[in-house]
Amino acid sequence: MILGGGTAGWMAANLFAGKWRDGRIGITLVESPDIGIIGVGEGSTPTLKRFFQLLGIPESDWMPRCNATYKLGISFDGWSPASGVDRYSHPFISEADAYRQQAFLVNCRTRRLGLDVHTAPGDFLLNGVLARLGKGPQSPPNFPFGMEYGYHFDSGLLGAWLAQRAAAHGVCHVQARVVEARQDEQGDIAALVTDDGSEIAGDFFVDCTGFAGLLMEKTLGVPYRSFSDNLFNDAAVVMPTPAAGEPPAETVSIAMRHGWRWKIPLTRRFGNGYVYSSNHCSADEAEYELRESLGLLDSPENARHLKMRVGQLERHWERNCIALGLSQGFIEPLEATALHLVQQSIELFIVKYEKAGFGSDYRDDYNRRTRERFERVRDYIVAHYKLNTRDDTDYWRANRDNDVLSESLRQILDTWFRREDLTAEIERQDIESHFGTLSWHCLLSGYGAFPPFSPKQPGGGDLYREQDVARFLAGCSLNFDSHAENLARLQA
Ligand SMILES: Cc1cc2nc3c(=O)[nH]c(=O)nc-3n(C[C@H](O)[C@H](O)[C@H](O)COP(=O)(O)OP(=O)(O)OC[C@H]3O[C@@H](n4cnc5c(N)ncnc54)[C@H](O)[C@@H]3O)c2cc1C
Repeated sequence: MILGGGTAGWMAANLFAGKWRDGRIGITLVESPDIGIIGVGEGSTPTLKRFFQLLGIPESDWMPRCNATYKLGISFDGWSPASGVDRYSHPFISEADAYRQQAFLVNCRTRRLGLDVHTAPGDFLLNGVLARLGKGPQSPPNFPFGMEYGYHFDSGLLGAWLAQRAAAHGVCHVQARVVEARQDEQGDIAALVTDDGSEIAGDFFVDCTGFAGLLMEKTLGVPYRSFSDNLFNDAAVVMPTPAAGEPPAETVSIAMRHGWRWKIPLTRRFGNGYVYSSNHCSADEAEYELRESLGLLDSPENARHLKMRVGQLERHWERNCIALGLSQGFIEPLEATALHLVQQSIELFIVKYEKAGFGSDYRDDYNRRTRERFERVRDYIVAHYKLNTRDDTDYWRANRDNDVLSESLRQILDTWFRREDLTAEIERQDIESHFGTLSWHCLLSGYGAFPPFSPKQPGGGDLYREQDVARFLAGCSLNFDSHAENLARLQA
């Protein structure tokens, strides 16, 4: 029994129905159209590609219907001006990167020793080069390497599309407002009670009620642990703008006075939103700054304001219930990891639930691993704020001065600044599966987090030049068409 029909609820319905299609488990999704969905969340990581692959859904089926575009990575604008980096790119890592990634890692180490070598991540990784050239990730059959990428999409359209598909695959869809959940004598959830007094019974419940947290928090009393002591943003203001020209294949994250704004290209519009800290600026100030940056000061278009709750549940599986999506936790949208965490949670749950013969033997293990995943993703996001070199507002200074860091993050930063082997440290911590060594190198070198240049420069040792990485990637990129051509092909 899934309560909630946002992206999390419908992703779960589709994956459960796909996995248990032999009818062993009947799946019902209950949602209230009056309450509606949050309606933001338009960028993904490559995990969403796996979601569609697992379900056997070709891109041509869903992408044109959801105004979707490809996402090769994220560009960060204005996060670290004092280090001399105006903009850097954090591309998703594709198979061909195996050939030149060592040059990037070695150059980052050489640069940490003070030598003047090339370290811009977007120049070492194929997706970075493709994004810069306006190309898409569709490769011809004779290109022998797998491509990694995510998507941008209209979240309302994707939800509706997933709902239709789930119904066609046997998921029962009930539209009703649930006022409470009835528990049995042991405390397990027995049924959902709707506003007309009827009950919908079930054996296992999935809380996808978004920030409302109706089942896990309000019914089962699982505490929610806030991350507000090291992630300050708690609000957002959102405004679309019309599509203009060919859509780029990357999200742009632009630093603002009290947070950052995203620019997400869809086929028919751009999604824009300013994520900020309400302790540092008011909703009106944020809206003004967003409008100003978009050139919309005189536009009659209304902006949408949202509150965000950043943190996670202390336990993601309690009694006969798991939480997925915003009800289980949220780490602000900087790296667009929310749906990635939803999918990883669903996949882990399926494995653990089946392994226990549809019981709860692996509940503690599931909770430990899911909690850990949220914490490591949080650390990666915290590092973006901690390392900023802006000086224009208290917001950025407070982020830089923030010393509430996990031990794991502290060790990563220490290793980097002590000029030691970051890859070995990430292996030692066994956190490669959250954000791996290449991602950390992209972030740290992208920020220009390096010591000053040494006065003596031997003039060699730059593997970017010595291995002619630019020529290798330029050659690879000849296999790819423009992003616009990729999208037109899907449409056709
Ligand atoms: C500003 C912002 C930007 C974001 N950007 C990204 C991004 O780029 N990438 C990304 O992956 N994620 C992003 N996210 C997160 C993303 O929006 C969510 O993870 C995603 O939409 C899933 O939401 P959900 O399904 O958990 O909740 P919701 O969409 O809020 O759905 C909740 C559902 O529960 C139902 N419901 C609630 N209470 C009841 C009740 N009493 N009875 C019946 N039904 C009920 C509602 O009707 C609704 O169907 C962003 C979030 C925010 C706030």
